[in-house]
Formats: sequence, structure tokens, C-alpha cells
Amino acid sequence: MNIIHVALDLPLPRLFDYLAPDSNLSDIGLRATVPFGTGSRTGVIVGVADVSEQPIAKLKTVSAILRDMPALPAEWLALCEFCARYYQTPLGEVTSFALPPMLRRGKLPRIKKTKPVAVSPSPSFAAGVELPRLLDAQQAAVEAITATNGFDTLLLHGVTGSGKTEVYLRAITAVLARGGQALMLVPEIALTPQLEGRVAARFPGAHIVCANSSMGDAARARGFLEAQSGQAEIVLGTRLAVFMPMPRLQLIVVDEEHDASFKQQEGLRYSARDVAIWRAHQLNIPIVLGSATPSLETFHHAQPRSAPTGGGTSRYRLLELPERAVADAMPTVRIIDTRREKLQEGLSAALLDGLQQRLDRGEQSLVFLNRRGYAPVLACPPCGWISRCTRCAANLVLHLADKRLRCHHCGFETGVPRSCPDCGNVDLLPFGRGTQRLETMLVERFPEARVLRIDRDSASTPKKWQALLATIHAGEADILVGTQMLAKGHDFPLLTLVGAVSADAALFAADFRAPERLFAQLMQVGGRSGRADLPGEVLIQTEYPEHPLYQALIEHDYQRFARSQLDERRIAGFPPFSFQAMLRAEARDMNQSLAFLTTARCAAESLADGVALYDPVPMRLQRLMKLERGQLLVESQSRPALQAFLPKWMEALHALKMPGGLRWHLDVDPLEF
Ligand code: ADP
Ligand code: ZN
Ligand code: ZN
Repeated sequence: MNIIHVALDLPLPRLFDYLAPDSNLSDIGLRATVPFGTGSRTGVIVGVADVSEQPIAKLKTVSAILRDMPALPAEWLALCEFCARYYQTPLGEVTSFALPPMLRRGKLPRIKKTKPVAVSPSPSFAAGVELPRLLDAQQAAVEAITATNGFDTLLLHGVTGSGKTEVYLRAITAVLARGGQALMLVPEIALTPQLEGRVAARFPGAHIVCANSSMGDAARARGFLEAQSGQAEIVLGTRLAVFMPMPRLQLIVVDEEHDASFKQQEGLRYSARDVAIWRAHQLNIPIVLGSATPSLETFHHAQPRSAPTGGGTSRYRLLELPERAVADAMPTVRIIDTRREKLQEGLSAALLDGLQQRLDRGEQSLVFLNRRGYAPVLACPPCGWISRCTRCAANLVLHLADKRLRCHHCGFETGVPRSCPDCGNVDLLPFGRGTQRLETMLVERFPEARVLRIDRDSASTPKKWQALLATIHAGEADILVGTQMLAKGHDFPLLTLVGAVSADAALFAADFRAPERLFAQLMQVGGRSGRADLPGEVLIQTEYPEHPLYQALIEHDYQRFARSQLDERRIAGFPPFSFQAMLRAEARDMNQSLAFLTTARCAAESLADGVALYDPVPMRLQRLMKLERGQLLVESQSRPALQAFLPKWMEALHALKMPGGLRWHLDVDPLEF
């Protein structure tokens, strides 16, 4: 054995062979530094062999095999290989992404002195912690999870506050008691230090490791090594934590499984939820997907084949938590028909009344508007000028707080002009409404109220975000104005009113997933109200009060909504009734992008068996950062048919000679259209 196959972080779908005279099979999974071009690179050894497909004379010799680092286990390599295959991404790019940057470069973190672990097989974790008595539905869910032997996907469906987290914690307790490791994935750990605290409080003696991209290099590398050595008992992290090697992994939990942030939108375009399911299958262990509003894909798999409206696939087991664990009732949802009313700066009389009542009672309210900035565009009505980004096909958003115009797509910004750049008119008008404008209006309207805006501008750093949360918890804010940032995972005991304004646009958006997202968002944000002993109320302003989405919200009836959406998807042939991949291209010139996609479509024609090819079209956001973008959708009724087609197609595309300046990528199971 004197040849090693190395996965290098290069956009080429192949491995690189090197001579390594003293290599042997146990080198698989180690990192190697190799000469490449005029420099050197570090990659992962994924194979050791006697032969190479390259002429031996052409092979270079490895510079070093890094043997002081633990080898990555075979199942970790298999996981990366699956991702490479499924997402059509070179293995070297996958392994490089899946490793913390420090380990990727072949460096070890300084060893931190750890406190000695108390020796006992009676588990030290839950000791001394007062546990709530489980509700029957929780008990049943915990039993179903802990009794699962081998692979199974369990969907834990329960509204916010129904005690899903409590169920995860109990299931994890059982895993730790058996000496296993548990992996818990959450959408955004930066937003959920509460959860970290809760897990740490429940398992005071346990070794818990966090994994997310905002951590420092050394901490991430250390966490990875602790998970790999088996020292870490619980790994808690965002999507990238799905790649943590865990030799005794016995349970995976994906909380808020519907959340779009589990799908990475650049580089390795993987869905951490889907990869987690594959991993559970690989390891033959149970996986729990939790949500108040499961993705329609997941829900479809959890529906019996005999369900009304066509039936699901019965592949997942459905566990339901129908009630809230603490507050005795769900918030009342009321739909405010805004067609018959003259709104005051976008707010209805009913919502203004509701805000006043909460103020009088010393309770908190939240006005939810998922658009930051002051106004989405600044315009000159006499001549028609509007604030446009010079780099993107998008408007510049007016931010009055710091008097800037900003592009929310590329980050371009500029000062607010004093007069119209085209005609000199000084009366430029903001159109539409963002959180800053709402904040200004509320401050004027309720001078006695403490109004707090929470969006990515006001919570631009974790520190600022923590400070805002602390202000809310201390009861030092009366009216919150916020984007979906506030919707996730937070408990605000004093909050009893949520008003949603300007939600309608999503009902008619071009993206077929927009209603699903809107429903999830409104359920989630509504779930912030009335979690303690104060009853909650949700007011939704709309011009479409009869819309089935809002009607289902009134009844808190996720299932009704999901079924009606699934009916529409079935008729339209959209996922989960079909499987998709999106080829996207970008270039200086739209013709160039579309020409490439047309060539790609031609190349696909002879290869596509049971796969439908759509026409190349410009993307909805046509121009981003001065690049013109197009897309080509391919779709199949059968996932295996699509998966058989993609590698052949990619091979054909990699063989094409690309015009300079053109870039393309493939997105398998795309979420954004
Ligand atoms: P979810 O994850 O579904 O939002 P949580 O597990 O966070 O729900 O539970 C919501 C609140 O109810 C938490 O404060 C939790 O401690 C509490 N809780 C959960 N289960 C019970 C129970 N069986 N008895 C009393 N309180 C509970
Ligand atoms: Zn821009
Ligand atoms: Zn003008």
C-alpha cells in the first residue's frame, strides 16, 4: 500500500492520489499535507491502495501524514460520502466543510485542563433537579421514543409550550443512563441560550458540547474532538453539528424541524434535518423531529396511507402533544378585516385598543412586522425616481434611524439624498412600512409606553440581543415591535397580545412554500403570548379574512391547514409529491447565464429518464452584486430517478468549457425559488 486517495477542498468532483511509501489502512481518516500546484494543501485520506488510475510516474509524494490527530471514523467518512453523492458536491468540499476550520488545517487546539469526571454508573445528571410530572401525552411520547429499538423517525407535533423540550430532555436522560450520546439540533443557537441553560441545568454532571459557526476556532475544534472521543455526552448545535462524530450516538433530536435555517444556502447546500435522518438510519437509532408546524414533507411522511385526501407515506411515527403544559388555554386568535377600515399608520382600531388595554394593565404587547428598516423604498412621486440598488435588481430600504439607504440583499449602502437625484425635488417620500416606522408611530401614539424595537438592526450583535431580551424579561418594555427574530423559542411571561400586520403578501407570493412559512411564523409568533397565567390574544390584520390559512389559524388547526396545502401540492405536482433540483447560473450578462442553462438543458435531454426539465428563466432576484442570475428546474416523481440522473448530468456539465466569469451550482431539494 503506497498510494493514498486524498479528498481536497477543491471544486473538482474527484480525489487526488499521492505516493505515501509507509502508508497503511489505519491511515484512512487521517489528514495529510500534500504538494499541490506551487503550494501545499491539507486534506483527508479517504482511501489507501496499491494502484492509482493516474500514471504512477505522475504522482507526487505526500509531504506529511498527520498521525498525532485522531483518525476520522469510517462512519463519519460514510456520512460525508453520502452528502457528496446526494448533493453532488465534491467529497473534499464536504469533508472540509464538516470539519472545524482548525482541524481542517491540520492543527490541534491547546488542551484545556478539564475537571475530573466524577466516577459513578448511577448517573449524576438529573440528581437534585425537581422534575415536572409529565402529562399523559408527554409520557406516551417519552415511552415511544425510549422504547424505539433501531432506526425510526418520530414526529413530535405539539404547539409552542406543549412540553416538547421536556420530552427531549427525558429521552436524552434515558440515553445518558444507558451510556449513550445524544445530539440535539436547533435552528439558531445564538438565539437560544435559554435552551443551552436549560439543558445544562437538567444535566449538571454531564459533559455538554455546543457547536455553531459563531464559536471561536479552538472551541469548535475542542468540541469536535470531545464528541469524537466520546467524552461529550450531549452535543447541542445548529445545522453543522449534524457532522459531529459521536461513537456512542443513540438519539438525534431536531427541534423546529420545519425551520428553513436547517438548509444551507451556499457551498454544501445540505439539509441538516435530512442528513440527520440519513445518519440515524446509518447508525440504526431513533430520530425525533419536533415542531408546532411540521414541514409539509415531514407531515406527509407521518400521515397514514389511508388518510383522507390521498394519504401519506406512513414512514414516520406521529406523536402528538395536543395541549399546552402550563398555560391552560391557547391564545385567542382574531382576524381583523382591514378592508372596511381606514388604518392609522397601518394599525387598526382593534389593535390600537388592544395595545392601550395592555398598557393600562401593565402587560406587554408585540407588534409583528417582518420587514426591517423605516420604509421599503424612498420615492420621488413627480418624476418617478425610486431608490434602487446599483448592484441588485432590488430597492434600497430607507433606514431613518441612521439616515441611510441600504440594500438588504448585498449590503450596499449610501446616505439619504436631500433631493431627488433625477429632478431635484426635495419632497422625497418613504413608501410602505418597516419596523422603524412602526416604532416611530407607536412612540407618538402611546407617549407613556416604553417601545422597544427588535430586529437585526437593533440586535446586531449577540450582546445587544441579550440586552434586549433582558429588558423584555425585566418588564422594562411595554410594546415590542419586532421581526421574526422574536418568534423563536422565547418565553415572555408578561406578553399577552400579539398583533400581526402586513402579513398578506405571502399569501400570493410566487414561491409555493410561502403560505407554509407564513402559517408557521404566525403560529410561532402567536405562541409567544399568554404562556404564563395570563391569557393571550393574537390579532391578525388582513384584507383576506376568509382565506383558509387564517381560518385554520383561528382554530389552531395545523392539520387542516397542512391537508389543504398538501391537496394543492398534489394537484400541482409540487414537493412532497415530486423531487426537485435547481441549477443556477450567474454571469455579468443575463444572456450568458441563460445560454449556459440552455446548453445544460440540451445536455440533460438524452440523460433524463423520468425527469422533467423546465425552461431556463431569470431568477426572481435577477441581479445580485452585479451578477445576472438564471435558474433551471429539474423535477421527478421519483427520488431514485432524480438521483440517478444528477451525477450523469453533473459529469456532462463539468466537461463543458465554461465561458470566463460564469459560475454555476446545483441545489438539490431547493427551498428557495
Ligand atoms: P415546547 O418545547 O413545546 O415549547 P417546553 O418543553 O418548553 O415546551 O414547555 C413549556 C413550559 O412548560 C416550560 O416552562 C416547561 O418547563 C413547562 N413544562 C413542560 N412540561 C411540563 C409538565 N409536564 N408539567 C409542568 N410544566 C411543564
Ligand atoms: Zn444590492
Ligand atoms: Zn424626481
